[in-house]
Order: sequence, then C-alpha cells, then structure tokens
Amino acid sequence: MSPETPRAKDGRAPDVFSRGGWTPMRDYALSEPVDFLIVGAGAGGATLGCRLAENGFSVVILEAGPFWRPLEDFASDELAQQTLFWTDDRLIAGDDPIALGGNNSGRGVGGSTVHYSMIALRFRPEWFKCRSQLGYGFDWPITYDDLAPYYEEAEEALKVAGPVNYPWGPPRRRYPYRPHEVNAAGLVLARGAEKLGVGWAATPLTTVSAPRGKSPPCVYRGFCNYGCSTNAKQSALTVWIPRALRAGAQVRDLAMAGRIDIDPRGRATGVEYFREGAWRFQHARNVVVAGYAIETPRLLLNSACPLFPKGLANSSGLVGTHLTTHAGPGAWATFDEAIRWYKGPPNMAVTEHWNYTDQGKDFVGGYAFMSQGPLPMAWAQTLATTRGLWGAALRDEMRKYNHMAGFVPVGETEPRAQNCVTLADDVDQYGLRIPKVIFSYSENDKRLQRHAVAFMSEMLAAAGGYDIWTNFKDTSHLLGTCRMGDDPTTSVVDADGRSWDIPNLWICDGSLFPTCGGVNPSLTIQALACRIADRISRLAATGSLASA
Ligand SMILES: Cc1cc2nc3c(=O)[nH]c(=O)nc-3n(C[C@H](O)[C@H](O)[C@H](O)COP(=O)(O)OP(=O)(O)OC[C@H]3O[C@@H](n4cnc5c(N)ncnc54)[C@H](O)[C@@H]3O)c2cc1C
Ligand code: SF4
Repeated sequence: MSPETPRAKDGRAPDVFSRGGWTPMRDYALSEPVDFLIVGAGAGGATLGCRLAENGFSVVILEAGPFWRPLEDFASDELAQQTLFWTDDRLIAGDDPIALGGNNSGRGVGGSTVHYSMIALRFRPEWFKCRSQLGYGFDWPITYDDLAPYYEEAEEALKVAGPVNYPWGPPRRRYPYRPHEVNAAGLVLARGAEKLGVGWAATPLTTVSAPRGKSPPCVYRGFCNYGCSTNAKQSALTVWIPRALRAGAQVRDLAMAGRIDIDPRGRATGVEYFREGAWRFQHARNVVVAGYAIETPRLLLNSACPLFPKGLANSSGLVGTHLTTHAGPGAWATFDEAIRWYKGPPNMAVTEHWNYTDQGKDFVGGYAFMSQGPLPMAWAQTLATTRGLWGAALRDEMRKYNHMAGFVPVGETEPRAQNCVTLADDVDQYGLRIPKVIFSYSENDKRLQRHAVAFMSEMLAAAGGYDIWTNFKDTSHLLGTCRMGDDPTTSVVDADGRSWDIPNLWICDGSLFPTCGGVNPSLTIQALACRIADRISRLAATGSLASA
C-alpha cells in the first residue's frame, strides 16, 4: 500500500521499527533558513542528512515518495510492491535505450535502497585513477585512500555481513557481521569458479546475519527487491533516517522538489516543492541535490534562470552528460538437482575475478558477477521478453523454475558525452519538464558483455548446468551525469560535491561518479556522503562555507 498523504509532519515521523509507532521530529518553519536543505532521501541524501545533523547543522530532507512503514506496508507480493519504484514518465532513446523502473530507481524515504539487493562492495583502488592508471575513462578527484575510512564507516553503520577474508582489494578490517550461509544458487557459482580456477566469495550483504537492535536476522524469504517486511535489511530507511531524526533532521515525505531558486548574487536561496496540493518554498543557506543520476540533472536543468540559462552548475555544459549504467546480460542453465533459487537474498555468491584481472581481456573496464534468485513473476517476465515465450511454452519453461540457476554481471560501461539526460518538452503531473534519457553501448561495452556472457556460460557448464542460454538486454544502476573533478571546465562539482559555479549548491548521490567501475555503487555513494559531511564540517570550521 502506498500512502497518499504525508506521514512525516506535525513534529513526528513514522518509527519504522514498530507498527503504528511514531518518533519525534523537528519542525522547521518554511521562512527559517535551514543550514542544509537536501533533495532526496536515498543512499546519498539520507546518509549526508544524518551525518550533517549529527555534526550540528540544521537539516531538512525533501523526498518525493512516501515514508514507508516496512512492517505494515510491505507485502510478499511482487505485483503490489511495484509502488516502491519511480515510475513517473520518462522518455528513453539511443541505440540501447535503458528500461527504467524497478530495476534502477526507487521513490520513497530510503530511496532505491528500500528495494535494492544489499550487495556492499568497495571500488577497486585503481578505478579512482582510471585514466592515469588503467588508460580509460576519467580520474576521480579523490583516491581510494581518501575514501577507505568512510567505506569502513559505512560498512560499520550498515553492519555488513561478509566473509572473514574477502579475496579482492587491499587488506581491510573484517566485516562487522558473519557471512550468510550461501544458498544452492550461490553454491553453483562456487562450484563453477573452483572448476575454472577463479576466486569466489559469499557476497557481503547489508542484511543482518544475527540480531541487531530491533532488526531480526534475515529469514531468507527472498523478497529483498520488493521491500523487506522484517527490517532485517539495513537500508537508508532503517539505518541513516532514524539516526538523522534522532539528531534533529526533519524529513518531509511526498514532497516533490521542482526548482532551486537563485538570488541576484548567484547563490541558492532554497527550493520550491509540491506537497499536500500546493507549491511551497523552504529557505536554506545551502541546497544539496541527491535525487540519483536522472532526477538530479533534471532538477538542475529545470532550475535554469536568467543568471544560469543553461541550468544550474552547468557552466561546463556537462550536467546530464556521461551517463553510465551497469550492463547486466544474463547466462542461465538448467540443473538436475533442485536449486530453489528464490531462497535467500538474490545474490549470495560473487566473483570479482574480472575486476582485478586485466590480462586476457579484449576490453577495458571490469565486471563482477553474482548468483541470481529472481522471484516467479520477474522470471516469467524475463522468459517472455527475452525468449518470446508465451502460453503453453512459457508454462512449460516455468515448470523448470526450481531447477534453474544463472549469473548476471555488474558490467562497467564507458562514460561518454552522448549518453545523457536532457529535458523533453512534455511535462509531468507537477508541470515539470520530464527527462529524456539517451543511451547507447560503445564497442568496448559490447566486447565486455560478450566476454562476460561467454565466461559465465562456461562456468555454468563447469558447474553441471545444461540447456544454457543468454540474454543481453538488462541493465542496473544509473551513474555519472554530474561528475566530480579537479577542473571546473571538465566537471560539475569538486571533490567535496560542491558546485564550481554556485558555492552553496552541492550534489551527493550516484550522479557524482566519473566512472562506474564493475561493482554495485551504493556503498561508494554512502562512503562519499560520509566524506562530504566531514569536509563540509571542516569548511564550516574554517569559515569557508559560502551561505546564501
Ligand atoms: C532493484 C535494485 C537493486 C539494487 N541492488 C543494489 C545492490 O545490491 N547494491 C548496491 O550497491 N546498489 C544496488 N542498487 C543501486 C542502489 O540502490 C542505488 O545506486 C543507490 O540507492 C543510489 O543512491 P542515490 O542516493 O543516488 O539515489 P536513490 O537512493 O535512488 O535516492 C534518490 C531519492 O531522491 C528522491 N528524489 C528524486 N528527485 C526528487 C525530487 N525532485 N524531489 C524530491 N525527491 C526526489 C527519489 O524519490 C529517491 O528516493 C540497486 C538498485 C535497484 C533499483
Ligand atoms: S531475504 Fe532477508 S533481507 Fe531479503 S526480504 Fe527476506 S528477511 Fe529481508
């Protein structure tokens, strides 16, 4: 069920850990400029909001979607739970248009982490200097070492459950919680990896393997992509938001930001947003955009004004450009034994072999791949759309459901200017121009996917799978579009997420990524948010925050 009216108001917000419970919440006046007004309560926005509030700043977070109560709202029903996804109209174009919806963006307090798969992986250190060390993409303005303490902080906050010795990356502290027992679908990956002589691991996941406060341990029912109804999942909704509220932040749910206002000096003064049937304006000393890689550039472009006719933070002309996604072609096989891949979180085993091995590749970039566990409706949809099965043929194939296993990679794509988010002429229900998302794979992207599909198929065969088939259409995650950098002419924001053009306008979400690497992005987004919060506090301490 999706609430129609805001729940976080009148000095209280839902307590996600109790049925019908409430938690006290600060109530800032619209006319009272808050230190930080954040648009979007997802991985980036919720983490930053929490850390800024804990550092003593006044914080309001605007969120377009509802404030979910997982214990009451989330049903074990694939269809009913589609309300978690951002499904407003968007135009898609390019040679390989990205299907938008449940596979890539969420709408609600907690953002896409409410229905994400909980995989918590760090970037390979060299990816932060991709151009200078690996010869492709762009360098980030920070190094792995800059982010390492914040990776640790995010892993600790999310109580990541992972193996004692994770095989890839620099030496690190052990994960806070023990790894989850790998399900049969994951053991297929393990068996195949061992036969082919490559490493594998239990996937580090943000669902607890032992009780944590009011979160019970994961019960392995596999509805993670449709909202976890037990709160075993450690998401922005269950981790950062409760902390943010306790520290004095205010969250306004069902509040759609439509425009950032700019004064004659070129400073942001606050945000116009739609809530409870009316447009309102919240004054702020600083504005942070954290709407993910489509809605963030959209808001900046929709906020064009006489001082900034190309849109905000866009003197470089780069806002919306260099969109990346993760290519997710699948390889699938039938097994004699029952696998029952729906049991447990969907991706319980991983190999990052091709993220850390550069020899033997006919492409640049990397990919990890994981075992899979699609629920029946999602699986039927894959069969219908990728193999054209329908009626009796679809029913026959679905009978094999419990005997299937497969792998899907998180395949890096190259950041290219022509892959972008622009504004279409059509408007949405708020009268705001909707985004147009244009995407085509490069030749390198295609070579990477062919390599992944061939290797995954080989591994499935090595594990005893047969009737192997593949599909090439899927993607996951949306990144880039407002990249960080060292140079105002080649980036949108600096290493702190601060706009080069408007000193009190910040970005803190997946759109910051100059390159997307071959792992799921949310741990890096949260680590970046923790770092940005610390940087902001240091800037404030030295009087270097330029407030409106
Ligand atoms: C099915 C699925 C599985 C995934 N699995 C994983 C995984 O296992 N591991 C991993 O690392 N990542 C995973 N991801 C990706 C991860 O969830 C996202 O990359 C991450 O949440 C993005 O963080 P963000 O802060 O950029 O945006 P989000 O978390 O999406 O948050 C953005 C928020 O901003 C709000 N918003 C946008 N525009 C406005 C506006 N104008 N006004 C008000 N609010 C606005 C949105 O409603 C949303 O709540 C998965 C994603 C999906 C969809
Ligand atoms: S498998 Fe675990 S994390 Fe996923 S929905 Fe069930 S209890 Fe939540």
